[in-house]
Amino acid sequence: MTKYIFITGGVLSGLGKGLVTCSIGKMLQVRGFDVTAVKCDPYLNVDAGTMNPYIHGEVFVLDDGYEADMDLGSYERFLGVNLTRLNNITSGQIYQAVIERERRGEYLGRCVQIIPHITDEIKRRVRQVAEETGVDVLLIECGGTVGDIEGLPFLEAFRQMRLEEPRGDTLLVHVTLVPVLEAVGEPKTKPTQHSVKELRAIGLQPDIIVARCEWGLLQEEQKRKIALYCNVEERAVFTSINVNPIYELPLILEEQGMGVLLCEYLGLERRRPEWRGWRGIVQRFKAARERVRIALCGKYAEFADAYVSVNEALRHAGAAVGCTVDIEFIETEEFEEKPESVEKLSEFDGVLVPGGFGRRGAEGKIAAIEYARNRGIPFLGICYGFQLSVVEYSRHVLHLEGANTTECDPETPHPVIDLLPEQREIDELGGTMRLGSHPVVVKPGTLAHSLYGSEVIHERHRHRWEVNPDYWGRLEGRGVVFSGWSPDGRRKEIMELPDHPFFLATQFHPEFKSRPWSPSPPYYGFIRASLEAKRRRVEVTSHA
Ligand code: GLN
Repeated sequence: MTKYIFITGGVLSGLGKGLVTCSIGKMLQVRGFDVTAVKCDPYLNVDAGTMNPYIHGEVFVLDDGYEADMDLGSYERFLGVNLTRLNNITSGQIYQAVIERERRGEYLGRCVQIIPHITDEIKRRVRQVAEETGVDVLLIECGGTVGDIEGLPFLEAFRQMRLEEPRGDTLLVHVTLVPVLEAVGEPKTKPTQHSVKELRAIGLQPDIIVARCEWGLLQEEQKRKIALYCNVEERAVFTSINVNPIYELPLILEEQGMGVLLCEYLGLERRRPEWRGWRGIVQRFKAARERVRIALCGKYAEFADAYVSVNEALRHAGAAVGCTVDIEFIETEEFEEKPESVEKLSEFDGVLVPGGFGRRGAEGKIAAIEYARNRGIPFLGICYGFQLSVVEYSRHVLHLEGANTTECDPETPHPVIDLLPEQREIDELGGTMRLGSHPVVVKPGTLAHSLYGSEVIHERHRHRWEVNPDYWGRLEGRGVVFSGWSPDGRRKEIMELPDHPFFLATQFHPEFKSRPWSPSPPYYGFIRASLEAKRRRVEVTSHA
């Protein structure tokens, strides 16, 4: 029988509720319990695929091709589980299912309502994950903050489940903020009290409070206050502090006794946690002595959440290589307005052009790629970065004037990147790209092969365009090596330039499969090459 832990948030969004969820999962995993996590997103989008990453954070792609909320990326990175579309429940999906059922006449004669129809559908989906995975404990995180109107049906479903499941088989963890006002100089518990009041008004009593506090661990006095006013035990009040790396949070919460309490409250067998492996991983991040500087040349550059998986993959690779990765976001439109500003890339040890869409900033990305290619700066191109690398090479080495992707210029004389044939007839935007895990054949004797050490790999995709077969021969004739392709031979997946210190670009997104204990091979190779480039530079300047 699966037990359930519901995680809600109060006061503000962005408190790291997702990381608390991951940490809870980890504390149970190291005790030998099987866990997985579900994210409930109260928005009306059916999935995150159509949302702007600049506002909502990255779209995380699962093996099955589902375009998920970015919290699912954290779940995968912490828990090492491969999630499916069942692990993300949105209001859009719930309403769509209920309305379709209504149209089919399945509720004939009845008035279709939020309670019970919407809440029943939420409960059905949560329990479906428990049944299909058979985990010991299922974590269910609700997006947003208590008090949001759109979150109410989810919280009501949680309330009902707590009543319906055997007593002691469910737990509610509420994550809040304990702010500190400089002028007052002490942490304030009032917002936490208010947000729990809000929860209690809808029939939910938290069992555990996790308070985020930038000042460090809460003192006994504040814990006592929170316990008293929020109606929880004093030992059930924990602090989530700022940590680096984020993978340290489970250890911080464990030290406060959270793992033991979770087991006690859920009536789980008390087992000794085995933290050795995880601690080793965290240690690797902390032990890194050298630093590399990477230029992340994108469009949503000013918003770090737009590229979480890329950032994490870079950090995983850094920890494995033994260096800290300093990532600097560069808005490539700047290179379009002031072409000479591309020179600033000379200060970096590596240049990365990530995935993206549309025209804005594309010419600037091409300028960044050209610079990295000509100057021998280690380069990694991801998806759009791969496609624009082909455009750059076509223009500047093959001298195909005006070469472009038809995404930016439908009239280009040289459509070196063109729509996938199966994309031409599609006119709906949601969930219609080439998505999810697909096999890629890797050519022996290439850089890609040396990094993956395998002739067939599986990586996740999210794209509509691809390298136009009409240009394969010309590109290969002038130094491009396509070191990966789809098994049917119909599309190119990896590009590299053998006479460059490190130039690798992939049609897929390897960052989605990077884990702190097993970095993604292209990212690993890229950071290793960037570190070597840096060492070489340091040597040159110290000899000068
Ligand atoms: N816009 C490009 C395409 O759709 C690349 C997509 C991406 O980078 N994820 O093919």
